[in-house]
Parts: sequence; structure tokens; C-alpha cells
Amino acid sequence: AKGAAMVTAVAYRLTEQARQIQQTMAEFRLSKAQLLEVKKRMKVEIERGLKKDTHKEATVKMLPTFVRRTPDGTENGDFLALDLGGTNFRVLLVKIRSGKKRSVEMHNKIYAIPIEVMQGTGEELFDHIVYCISDFLDYMGMKSARLPLGFTFSFPCHQTSLDAGILVTWTKGFKATDCEGEDVVELLREAIKRKEEFELDVVAIVNDTVGTMMTCAYEEPNCEVGLIAGTGSNACYMEETKNIEIVEGNEGRMCVNMEWGAFGDNGCLDDIRTKYDQAVDENSLNEGKQRYEKMCSGMYLGEIVRQILIDLTKRGFLFRGQISETLKTRGIFETKFLSQIESDRLALLQVRAILQQLGLDSTCDDSIIVKEVCGTVSRRAAQICGAGMAAVVDKIRENRGLDHLDITVGVDGTLYKLHPHFSRIFQQTVKELAPKCNVIFLLSEDGSGKGAALITAVGCRQRDLAGK
Ligand code: BGC
Ligand code: MG
Repeated sequence: AKGAAMVTAVAYRLTEQARQIQQTMAEFRLSKAQLLEVKKRMKVEIERGLKKDTHKEATVKMLPTFVRRTPDGTENGDFLALDLGGTNFRVLLVKIRSGKKRSVEMHNKIYAIPIEVMQGTGEELFDHIVYCISDFLDYMGMKSARLPLGFTFSFPCHQTSLDAGILVTWTKGFKATDCEGEDVVELLREAIKRKEEFELDVVAIVNDTVGTMMTCAYEEPNCEVGLIAGTGSNACYMEETKNIEIVEGNEGRMCVNMEWGAFGDNGCLDDIRTKYDQAVDENSLNEGKQRYEKMCSGMYLGEIVRQILIDLTKRGFLFRGQISETLKTRGIFETKFLSQIESDRLALLQVRAILQQLGLDSTCDDSIIVKEVCGTVSRRAAQICGAGMAAVVDKIRENRGLDHLDITVGVDGTLYKLHPHFSRIFQQTVKELAPKCNVIFLLSEDGSGKGAALITAVGCRQRDLAGK
């Protein structure tokens, strides 16, 4: 009888444990009503960003890009492009040929940006960038060419023209001093001058979302939205110029860089943010900022997972209650690990092997729980990102007074491309939350580089026409 009582007690403890773990996970499981609410709130913030009276305090900034049309195939020339702010820093040479046999040829080289440079002084950062350009030009044998350059700079910039962009705030892992509030095109030009080795003509500053949209639109003219679901999260789309109240003119359309990562910074998502989201925010370089991004982009998903695992361990549900040094280390769960852990093809034993690689000793039960935590966190990410996109495509549909909209979204980003479930759940959510839109998603091939070059080509031509 004593034995039986003990068995019952153990069984009770296990079910109680399972119940508590499920209770923790439940905070991340959003209902359709909640997702519709996220969509609705995004719509409200979009309007606040577009309107002159509310633009200043708006969190979703809806920044004008001065890109007024998508490519039409007449773009032509050789361009240099920089891609800063994603997973890799790259310098590219892009050769675009117009005409019957239009083509784009690219050469690129990846450079590391050491963390000391990302978080050092602005001068060091821009000197490093110019050093990499110099190396690339040597490598290509093109130092004397004075090429036009498009700068893909994947951070919020307040633009007043195609070639002027004041950095609003750093995001993701960057924190170089003396850059916020400055025109980054000027910072680049000054650094090129300091080096005294070559000349370049900086024609355009481009957000990665805009580059992605333009690259996809080069192949598919119906593409009028760009999405990045990678290290960071953001979208852009073609808005009616008359609706962008801080830009003069009522004719035609202009691409707006939404900077939706900052959605929620006014507290409007607090009811769905968990204490784990708050912990991730408190541990970040930019506390209080980019709250939506911190719930749905690659740089932070692993951090949310880590916070949950720490909590479950403290409560004695995981890793025998022992919090290892590894688990205390920021950034251990990169997108590629989450993607591996969540892969359906992976047996639990392999999940344990991955955890082992990270320095986490797990039992079989542990690995089941870890996998479920990862799946729950990435599912919520895909869903709230989908809710944001549903708001965007519905906004475009309403702009055009249509009952039904067919539209293509150009997409890039490591999370979208590498994760085994993110893209599917994201697409399904958009479909459910914006049933009047038929949305096709097109993966961009090297959006940042090609798109920057396409925009630079348009910029050069506009300038020639203006006779400058
Ligand atoms: C930046 C955006 C960028 C996005 C994706 C965000 O952190 O603020 O400008 O588009 O990341 O790279
Ligand atoms: Mg990128």
C-alpha cells in the first residue's frame, strides 16, 4: 500500500509538472480573436505614422523612402552596393543591363564586423566600412572607376531625399556612438574622404525591405510590398503619396519603410507580452524599443526560449533543476539552432545531441520540453508577424477601394528562409486574417544588393533628367 501511494504521488507530481509547463506555454498561444486584435492595432499605428499631427509621437514611423516606382526593366549600368545591418556585411558590384536580354550580374564579398566595431565609435565603424570597400575595389581591380553607390542600411532612417537619411535609432546588435541623429550618407562620404584612396558617388540610401521589394518587383511587377523576417523584422509597401502627410505632393505612390519593429513601444501590445518578453527586453541593448521585433525576429527568438528554459529549470522541471553557465549565456540559441531543433526530420536523440553541442546535458524528457518551447515561441512569432502583414495588405486594398486585392510580397531574411515552420504559419495567418486579399509570397534572391543597385540606377537617371 505504501508503494502504491508513492507511485500515485510521483504520478501526481508529473501531471502537476506537465500542467504547469502547459500553463506557461499557454501564454504564448494566441487565439484568432487576439491575432485580429494585433492586426487592428497595427492598422491604428500605421495611420498614426502617416498623419502629420501624430507622426512625431507615432511608434510605427512609416518613413518615406523617395522611391516612387518599382523597376520597369530600363535600369542600366554598373553599381556598387553595400549591405549593412543583416546577418552579414557585404560589398557588391552589380551590373544591370536593360533591353531585350535584360540581366543582372553580381560579385560580392562578405566582411566581418567585429562586435567592438559595431559597438565602438561611429568613426571607427565607418572607417571599417570604407576599409572593406577599398579591399573589395582592389579585389575587383576597380579603384579608379568612381562608381555610383547604393547603401543598404537596415536601420530606421528619416529620409528627406533618396540620398539623405538621418539615423533615428540603432537596432539589433548595433550601438556605435555619434551616429544617431546624423545623416549616415554624410558619415560615409566623410569616411571615404578621410581614406583618400578612391572616390564614389553615393546616390541612394536604401532600407533592406525596400531593396527586397524592388528586387522582386524586377521579376514580378505586382510586387508592391517588402518583408524582412531575419535578424530583425520590418516591412515596406507602396503607399499613396497623398496619404503620407509629411511628404509634399498628392500624385502617385511612394514606398514607405514602416519600421514596424517598434510596434508596441507605446505599450499597445502589453497584454500579450509575457514576463519572458520583458526579460528579453531588459537584457537587450535597446530596452523599451523594438518590442514587436523582439517577439518575432531571429535575433530574439532564441533569447525568449532561453528565458523560458531558465524559468522552467528554476522551478525544477528541466535539467534536474541545475542552471548551467551555458543557459546563462546570452545569444546561445541562434536561429540556425532553433531551426534544427524544430526540424520534423530530427529524432529526439538528435535534439539531445544539439543541446549537448551547446553544452546542455538533457534527459529525453528535457529534450521533448525544449522542442515544445521552441515550437511555441516560433509559432507565436510567425502568427504576430502574419497579423502585421494582414494589416498592410488590407490597408493597400482599402487604399485602392477594392473588394478583392491580388498582390505579391517580396520576402527575405534568415528566419523566413531557414526555419522549418515559420513561413508556412506566417502565410496561413495572413490568409486567415486578410481573407479579401490573395497574397503571393516571392523569395528574393539577394534583395539587399540587387535592390540597392536598381534604386541607384533610378536615382542616377532622375538626377540626369534634372540636369544636375
Ligand atoms: C530595422 C529595420 C530593418 C529590419 C530588418 C530592424 O531592426 O529597424 O530598418 O528593415 O531590422 O533588417
Ligand atoms: Mg539582409
